[in-house]
Amino acid sequence: MAWLLDAHIHLSDPEYASNMDVIVNSMDRLGLRACAVSMDNESSKNTLAIAARSDHVLPFIGIHPEKAADDLDMMVDLIRNNAAAISGIGEIGLDKTYCSDEAQFKRQHLVFSTLLEVAEKLHKPVSVHSRKTLDEVLDMIPSYKTGGFLLHWFDGSKKQLARAMDLGCFVSYGPVMVYSQDKQVMASASNRDKILVETDGPVKFSHCFGMKAAQISFIPSVMFALSKTLGQSYDETEAMLEGNAKRYLRI
Ligand SMILES: [Zn+2]
Repeated sequence: MAWLLDAHIHLSDPEYASNMDVIVNSMDRLGLRACAVSMDNESSKNTLAIAARSDHVLPFIGIHPEKAADDLDMMVDLIRNNAAAISGIGEIGLDKTYCSDEAQFKRQHLVFSTLLEVAEKLHKPVSVHSRKTLDEVLDMIPSYKTGGFLLHWFDGSKKQLARAMDLGCFVSYGPVMVYSQDKQVMASASNRDKILVETDGPVKFSHCFGMKAAQISFIPSVMFALSKTLGQSYDETEAMLEGNAKRYLRI
């Protein structure tokens, strides 16, 4: 049976803790897998514990740019010690909106490049945050050969998208695509073999999603919007996304 993938969700976020049994059971029942990304050492350990409960939870561990001050050596050890258990490394990346000076951005850069090196050595895919830093991130990609490189919540220009496609990146789109024409235009300009879908839960989405923390069950709606955008059936979209997910995760 085909399976669906939420390519980026923070299941270790406290928002989901009281409901984890329901989430894991519904994922198993619906054939929905999730790349469960982490923020820092603590949430990475939580992610590993959640992943131990279901094969459908694919653990990604790492240090998010917002948490760049976290212990990098400890994270590198955590990744190495759990290399067989983890599906990938993330959420990692750059984001100047969390920096008040140049030294903090340098620290983000050190954390990001170190974790990309580890991903390259272990042949693991990465889930990358590139808010307002897409050019810097795109400049770094040729230096690393990771398993698969996902620019999650792709939010660049058409020119940046073309560059990302040339570099072989995957790009993911989320619930915003259901109601935003800009996102639909960007999705239709992406190479079909490089598109993934995500919720980035517990981010809250407006319009039909009612500003509630995103649920993994939003994924079929995002897939439906994507199928309309690409002018293909839901089943074709499902098969396309499954193939893309397998190549991204190398499974
Ligand atoms: Zn995220």
